Amino acid sequence: MLKKEFKRKDVNRARNLLMGKTNASTGVQIGYNKKEEDHKEGDIWTEGKKTWTVKNGIKQTVSKLDFIKKEVFMPLSCPCCGKLMKKRLDKPNYKIHKKCHSCVIEFEHKLKIKGEYDDYIKDLRIKNSFTVVDEMESYLLDVVNNNSNSGFVSEDGVVERWVGGKNKAELRNKVKSEFALEKEKLQKELNDKKGT
Ligand SMILES: [Zn+2]
Repeated sequence: MLKKEFKRKDVNRARNLLMGKTNASTGVQIGYNKKEEDHKEGDIWTEGKKTWTVKNGIKQTVSKLDFIKKEVFMPLSCPCCGKLMKKRLDKPNYKIHKKCHSCVIEFEHKLKIKGEYDDYIKDLRIKNSFTVVDEMESYLLDVVNNNSNSGFVSEDGVVERWVGGKNKAELRNKVKSEFALEKEKLQKELNDKKGT
C-alpha cells in the first residue's frame, strides 16, 4: 500500500527548480532571503486577508492546502464486494485502488500466489510518482500564476522569495518543460516494464 503525498525531496527539488539551481543541495540558502517572520511547520496565521500555513517547508495559503488535499469522492459501499466502507483503512485504499481495504488485501494475496505481486507493486510506485508529479506541477503553476507573494519558509523561519526577479512566463515554461521531462521518464519506465 502506498501513501500519496509530497515528499520532502519533491518540495526541495521544486524549490531549487524555481530558484534556478537544479543541482543545489538542500538546506543551502540562496536567492532572495530575508528574515521576515518566525513561522514553523504547521503554524497557521493571518496575513493581509489570507490565512497562511507552512506545510512541507512551503509557506502557502490555507486554500492552497485544500487544493492539494482535494478529496476524492467515495461511495458508501465498496464497488468490489458491496460492503460498507467505514473502516479507517478503507478511505486511503479507495483513493488508490477504488475498493475497500479487505478487497485490496485479498487482491494482493492472490497476486502473491500467482507470483505477480512484485510487478504490481512496481507498477503502483510508478503510477504514484505520476500523481505526485502531476499534482506538484499544477500546484507550482498555480503558485506562479496567482501567488507571487508566496515563498518558501525554511525550518528556522527564514522566508525565501522565489518569484521575485523572474518573470512569470519564464517560470511557467520552466515548470512545464521540467515536468514534461519527468513524466516522459516515468512513461518510459512503464513501457519498459510492460515490454519485459
Ligand atoms: Zn470490498
